[in-house]
Amino acid sequence: MFVYADNAATTKLSQEALAAMMPALTDLYGNPSSLHQAGREAEAALWDARERIAACFSAKPREIYFTSGGSESDNWAIRSAAETGARKGKRHLITSAFEHHAVLHTLKKLEKEGFEVTYLPVHEDGLVRPEELRAAIREDTALVTIMYANNEIGTIQPVEELGAICREKGVLFHTDAVQAAGHLPIDLSAAPIDMMSFSGHKFHGPKGVGGLYVRTGVLLRNLIEGGAQEFRKRAGTENLPGILGMAAALEASCRNMEASAQRVSHMRDRLLQGIRSIPATRVNGSLTHRMPGNLNACFEGIEGESLLLRLDLAGICASSGSACTSGSLEPSHVLLAIGVPKELAHGSLRLSLDETNTEEEVDHILEKLPGIVAELRAMSPVWDEAGQRMKAVEV
Ligand SMILES: *Cc1c(COP(=O)(O)O)cnc(C)c1O
Repeated sequence: MFVYADNAATTKLSQEALAAMMPALTDLYGNPSSLHQAGREAEAALWDARERIAACFSAKPREIYFTSGGSESDNWAIRSAAETGARKGKRHLITSAFEHHAVLHTLKKLEKEGFEVTYLPVHEDGLVRPEELRAAIREDTALVTIMYANNEIGTIQPVEELGAICREKGVLFHTDAVQAAGHLPIDLSAAPIDMMSFSGHKFHGPKGVGGLYVRTGVLLRNLIEGGAQEFRKRAGTENLPGILGMAAALEASCRNMEASAQRVSHMRDRLLQGIRSIPATRVNGSLTHRMPGNLNACFEGIEGESLLLRLDLAGICASSGSACTSGSLEPSHVLLAIGVPKELAHGSLRLSLDETNTEEEVDHILEKLPGIVAELRAMSPVWDEAGQRMKAVEV
């Protein structure tokens, strides 16, 4: 059996998205900037997609900028706000300790360029505290950027409260909503969010396309010089197939959101029960303020990477949620930020389900996982089999 339980990393292209892309990959090949009939048809399709995406977020089409994905949107929003702030002498930025690297690495670079960054703590429940944000805002704060939902532990931040504080203090608020968009209802006509990043491939759209929402009146700096695309802010002939696919995927996700969240959280909760019956296991982050499909747990005495390999042999695609992809053996910065001890953070597992998963697949994971954990522990030098816990580690 093949089980894809890594939907926080990326998702399968939906039938709706594929069908919407096909015309732009075949007959609808005009350049939206061309004045002739083929160009006008492409331009009409492009605008239609912008309108439909805006409608899903209760935004205006003029507030949606297409990009190459979540990373670009994060970079763009943060750089733009920093540059705008700096012109007014504001060189202080606020974020949280467990953001995606697209946010953290952009901020690290800005620190080298003379900006000052405050990293708000994330508590054991995987949430930042609004009152701590309020206390951190200064006269010279140019931007607050805090993610909507975390990609590793799935916790959902109190964005409305955080945004309201920013608005009250007159500070720009950006949120990386790459995990949330298409999965949680987002109403930008009501929420105090100034900028928001999203990405097509996290909700069954194609890869390499995303967007940045920028509220009317918020100054956005040019990203790419050249043609007049994206309201003269980001030049380059538009990725029309990607954009049409993303629009169709987002609409389908938003249409099925409630029913899908119910079905997915039911499967996740069954997984959770099964995982809790494994001894010496810690489930990470709040279970109430959480994405419906996310489960993140640490198993004492084992290495996340060996666990992933064994799961892979059993046909299960999962993630450790750690920086293993970068080849480093450093445990996840997200787990460390919420206070998981380093030894334990090495044994982390993220399972991320969505509406494409089935109850049978959950059964398969529940059938395989406890045995694999037990086998790895039996081989582990740091596992105390008799005590059923991790041996005290010499530091
Ligand atoms: C996946 C992800 C990104 C990066 O999006 P890409 O489209 O892959 O560049 C950024 N932030 C979060 C929270 C993500 O999950």
